[in-house]
Amino acid sequence: MTAPAPLDFAALLSSRARSMNASAIREILKVTQQPDVISFAGGLPAPELFPLDDVRSAAEAALDKYGPAALQYSTTEGHLPLREWIAAQAAIPAQNVQIVTGSQQGLDLLGKILISEGDTVLVEAPTYLGALQSFQPYGPRYVQLPTDEGGIDVDALAEILQTTGAKLLYAIPNFQNPTGRSLSAERRQKLVELTAQHGVLLIEDDPYGALRFSGEAAPSLYELGQRLWGDVNQNHVIYMSSFSKTLVPGLRDAWVQAAGPIIQKLIQAKQGADLHTPTLNQMIITELLPILPRQIETVKKAYGERAQHMLRRIGEQFPAGAQHTTPEGGMFLWITLPEGMNTTTMLERAVARKVAYVPGSPFFALGGGENTMRLSYSCATPEQIDRGIAALAQTIREELD
Ligand code: PMP
Repeated sequence: MTAPAPLDFAALLSSRARSMNASAIREILKVTQQPDVISFAGGLPAPELFPLDDVRSAAEAALDKYGPAALQYSTTEGHLPLREWIAAQAAIPAQNVQIVTGSQQGLDLLGKILISEGDTVLVEAPTYLGALQSFQPYGPRYVQLPTDEGGIDVDALAEILQTTGAKLLYAIPNFQNPTGRSLSAERRQKLVELTAQHGVLLIEDDPYGALRFSGEAAPSLYELGQRLWGDVNQNHVIYMSSFSKTLVPGLRDAWVQAAGPIIQKLIQAKQGADLHTPTLNQMIITELLPILPRQIETVKKAYGERAQHMLRRIGEQFPAGAQHTTPEGGMFLWITLPEGMNTTTMLERAVARKVAYVPGSPFFALGGGENTMRLSYSCATPEQIDRGIAALAQTIREELD
């Protein structure tokens, strides 16, 4: 045989693969993972709050209850008792609930079934970077929606909808990743009405909604869609949530609620992706449902205290030109520094002072936000907040001078 010719792997990749980029955040996190750096950069749930013993007993209970079936292939739609529980919470039939392997899979599968090359997809500016990563290989044309303290600017949206021929809008109405902001009740109504009028599908990504530690809850976009249509199979809102932030992320259990035709396509797409979400994981989550309310209380209390502490220190120490959001739940807050500052170039100096954050610009689909940053308080102790915010304040002041 003649010597094999070395393969040009780059040339053999699909155009889809070529459109994928290494996550900017992942690259940044590598720099910030030195052991002595206080990191507000990660977006992880607090591991010390995981209900370890409950998970252990839930696994045992699931194995006792189901035997080998807990370890067998199972249906693509998901474990029926779990779907029934989710359906009961939303007052919809279980057929309208699809279990997915993390809401991240939900985003990928929705991208796969809804986005053709060149389709216009409306996203918040800024938005969840992981959604941009999931959608990107399907070739969307993004249009950024301006946002402010109350979430998406719905007047700007009304104008954009007149001209863009958008097909899909992706939004995170509760304690958004990355800003921590929530969409006001009036804007929710307007958002649901406007998208319905223009025949635009609305993806509501809600992994943090249960983690409200202050303020009043507003109805979900899905619920408003249900009221508008009066028919679960007409609702143009596709709702997603997850057990990652309320229980544990490692079991990768989340769900999608949607109209029948969307669920039917999701099932087909999921069959091609992974056949089904791990059977035992779904059973463990189902066994954990009785402790879910208690666990949510524990997490909310801890995150509320951590957020309050971080906000207090920011208020005391950041220079006057630095603005911050005031989240009422979730894991993140957002800092806007004076125009002209650059948080990407500043990061190196922050890390030298032993503190890290995520620069804001990767969260903008079309760029922008060079003077912004995301801070996560979910895993920070009071001492880390004291030292980290002091170091960050000092870095910002130095940069301003
Ligand atoms: N959507 C948003 C807005 C998120 O912040 C996250 C997690 N960081 C996800 C989806 C993915 O969550 P999971 O796949 O763990 O359910």
